[in-house]
Amino acid sequence: MAVVPYGGGTSVVGGLDALRGEHGSVVTLDLRRLDRMTDLDPVSMTATLEAGLRAPEAEELLRRHGMTLGHVPQSFEHASIGGFAATRSAGQASAGYGRFDAMVTALTVVTPAGTLRLGRAPASAAGPDLRQLFLDGEGALGVITDVTVRVRPVPEVLLDEAWSVPDFAAGTAALRGLAQAGALPTVARLSDELETAIMGSVAGPRPPPGCQLVTCYEGTAETVEARRAAAHRVLTAAGATPLGAGPVAGWREGRFSAPYLRDTLLDAGALAETLETAASWRRLPELYGAVRDALTAALGASGTPPIVMAHVSHAYPDGASLYYTVLAAQAADPVAQWAAAKRAAGDAIVGCGGTITHHHAVGADHRPWMRAETGELGAEVLRAVKRTVDPRGILNPGKLIP
Ligand SMILES: Cc1cc2nc3c(=O)[nH]c(=O)nc-3n(C[C@H](O)[C@H](O)[C@H](O)COP(=O)(O)OP(=O)(O)OC[C@H]3O[C@@H](n4cnc5c(N)ncnc54)[C@H](O)[C@@H]3O)c2cc1C
Repeated sequence: MAVVPYGGGTSVVGGLDALRGEHGSVVTLDLRRLDRMTDLDPVSMTATLEAGLRAPEAEELLRRHGMTLGHVPQSFEHASIGGFAATRSAGQASAGYGRFDAMVTALTVVTPAGTLRLGRAPASAAGPDLRQLFLDGEGALGVITDVTVRVRPVPEVLLDEAWSVPDFAAGTAALRGLAQAGALPTVARLSDELETAIMGSVAGPRPPPGCQLVTCYEGTAETVEARRAAAHRVLTAAGATPLGAGPVAGWREGRFSAPYLRDTLLDAGALAETLETAASWRRLPELYGAVRDALTAALGASGTPPIVMAHVSHAYPDGASLYYTVLAAQAADPVAQWAAAKRAAGDAIVGCGGTITHHHAVGADHRPWMRAETGELGAEVLRAVKRTVDPRGILNPGKLIP
């Protein structure tokens, strides 16, 4: 019997598709009842959280002790701790708190071949880091039953500021400046011209022309002031204009409700989809244009020219992610329509040196591009690990492993 581990059910890449591979049947393994915080270590500032805890529940347990995880993806309301770990989820405050995998110090993984408890110190030189193998294992290499994560004190101060930059190129240069100066705010999110115009207008008064950069700072009064001063220096030098806190309030209000709009749009005959990638700063401009053009051409070919808008919400010293939102009229077969567009975008991503996913993971949908990520030998290494921990191939067949 094939087994599909189920956390919060928010996978957007077919991670939960009921594929049975060569098995006669498939069962969902619901992790919902693994819902405890089993340890909080205020000295080391770590917490051990069971995999089935939903993000709001985990946050509530931590906040009782004045702690927070700081992990707030758009799927926050429903997604689980185990799901975050199994997909390397990235929260909106990733610049301040890091992607979920960066928070994990230890984890327990149950596999058909036995149980592993990995991670015994904040850092180790004892060979390759096996935690990294099972983080993002997407339920194909084992079931994560708990994770030990770094936690922080609940911030004393939250400070929001929006900025306007003349165009997307100037905005990405400003973000690169922030990342390379070590001056990234806790949240840094740059919308391209179209997303600024559309989402900005939905959220509040019409934004100025150009691109909007949302910045938020969290911490003590001193750290917030110091980070803000450092970011201001970089942004002012990059030609950005401050817009105050107003536009950020609109973004905060709409950040969890926007996905629900998708159902309304689908019912109204519109196709609404998203996809994401990441690349080095050098490749980013080419990648940005190539994916937009590929989506426009593919959907144009089905007689449904799209609106394609994008933002950058996760930045590093050497590169950043790109997140696209695509709107179009639905064709007669919307599933085939999006599959063709997604194929074109995936090929463009790989062709421009981007990764097929920065944080949504592989699932079934991104599997066709996995060989491009790992190479043939890398794919064989993954298959060898799979054979060792899951010799009968019962865990999530048809996902992740090329
Ligand atoms: C509206 C919306 C907004 C989103 N926003 C973001 C975002 O901002 N950032 C982001 O990174 N992602 C986002 N996502 C994607 C998704 O939320 C993440 O991938 C999330 O980490 C999945 O968590 P989950 O608990 O829902 O996992 P599920 O969807 O239940 O499972 C995801 C995959 O992990 C496996 N899995 C789940 N739990 C375990 C476990 N304990 N052990 C082993 N395998 C397991 C499943 O088999 C599946 O393959 C969004 C999705 C939606 C629908």
